[in-house]
Amino acid sequence: MRLAAAVAILAIVSIIGFAIDSIPPGSAQESEPGSGDGPLFHDVHFHLTNYVQRGITLSEFLEIAANDVGRTAVFGIPLQQKWDYFESGDRAPDYYLHSDSALYYYSFIDAMIAEEYLALSPERRERFDPMITGFNPTDMYAADHIRRVLEIYPGVFSGIGEFSIHKEFVTSKIAGHAASLRNPALDRVLEFAGETGLAVILHNDIDTVLPTGAPEPVHLEALREVLAAHPDATIIWAHTGLGRFVAPAADHVELLDALLSDEAFSHVHCDLSWDEVAKYIVRDETSLEAWTALLERHPDRFLFGTDSVAPSGRDGYLKTWRDYAPLWDRLSEPTLHAITIGNYERIFDEANRKVRAWEAGE
Ligand SMILES: [Zn+2]
Repeated sequence: MRLAAAVAILAIVSIIGFAIDSIPPGSAQESEPGSGDGPLFHDVHFHLTNYVQRGITLSEFLEIAANDVGRTAVFGIPLQQKWDYFESGDRAPDYYLHSDSALYYYSFIDAMIAEEYLALSPERRERFDPMITGFNPTDMYAADHIRRVLEIYPGVFSGIGEFSIHKEFVTSKIAGHAASLRNPALDRVLEFAGETGLAVILHNDIDTVLPTGAPEPVHLEALREVLAAHPDATIIWAHTGLGRFVAPAADHVELLDALLSDEAFSHVHCDLSWDEVAKYIVRDETSLEAWTALLERHPDRFLFGTDSVAPSGRDGYLKTWRDYAPLWDRLSEPTLHAITIGNYERIFDEANRKVRAWEAGE
């Protein structure tokens, strides 16, 4: 009798042991504070690969994101950091600030992203909105590249970007003509985005790395002209124009408020992404109050994004979300929901509907 009982207990223990082993890694991950019924956020700004086109798979990303992230606007980085032996010898740079050699546009990234997406089950594809980035915005043929990608990969892409015009330490490193807001090639790209319904994520620093002392950040006026010229395109301005070194001017929040309050820019949104930008926003009480008031005044115009690049683990990926916590804590529930969930769904559901219709020739 006692032997039978011991055998039974042993059997039960081994079954439980087996069950625990068969749970895939990551699913038992402890979820982030605040995540209850449904995802914490949709990520409008995620780079699957880095500046040397290396990264993780979408399946690996889903393990890292677990249930905390709903949908993700996923793209690569349209620039390759060249490994020039004569510049760095056997040292292989993988970031633009680790090398003096040039960057060049890398169009194959769009095929890489499409293949990753198509390798997923239909159910898992629901969690991604892939974006086209592999074009040179100084090339009048850039819009043709975007059209070609849509035609070769119908049913896959929802938008274009993140692509950059003025970006600190990057624009000047790109081989060939420097990207500019005055280049008609950019207008052709934004026109095509308006025609197809592709959502646009545009990186354009609001100012130079070292402010010039001009009354207004130097790139703002030209940016306003470009944005106003393309009311049909849904444009998300990455990082509200800030960067690692491009810091907010004293009246940065007022400048954003003026832009977003102007009817001519009702098609323009901003993403709150990159931990290098979060540092400015949460730095002190005054800044937090100003940004909280701005977001409460324009709750439908801001979207959260991590700007994470090929993360190797959960903590790295969630760093930006956690860095913004002091801001999230101050927002009203409806505004927090709009910025983390609602605005993303509105913009990308609309983009997917329009782009699929365009692909179907409707
Ligand atoms: Zn980015």
